Amino acid sequence: MDVTTARERLEFMLAELDRSIGVLRGDPVAVRDRSTADAGSDLTDADRAQAMLTVATTQRHAVIEAIKRIEEGVYGQCVDCREPVPAGRLEARPEAARCVQCQGKRERRR
Ligand SMILES: [Zn+2]
Repeated sequence: MDVTTARERLEFMLAELDRSIGVLRGDPVAVRDRSTADAGSDLTDADRAQAMLTVATTQRHAVIEAIKRIEEGVYGQCVDCREPVPAGRLEARPEAARCVQCQGKRERRR
């Protein structure tokens, strides 16, 4: 995936995330409508909105960091080992900051 395509995808993701975050913060009705599919869960609407907001905010941060890496000319490099992140991984997750090995190490440390 070339950097121009990556940037377009990241900017699109950022716009979508900003929209979702705005909805989650400001409009509980929209959240309820979207989550009717998984009725039966013990989570309240407010809990679910909060969980979605946390995920969206984390994702938004990752997307912004990836756009920064494009600007710095280091996009597609693992931020830990500086090896290239495999194209397939970037295709699936354009905001990925690490190669699979480093991501795995990081998650095991937690
Ligand atoms: Zn790495």
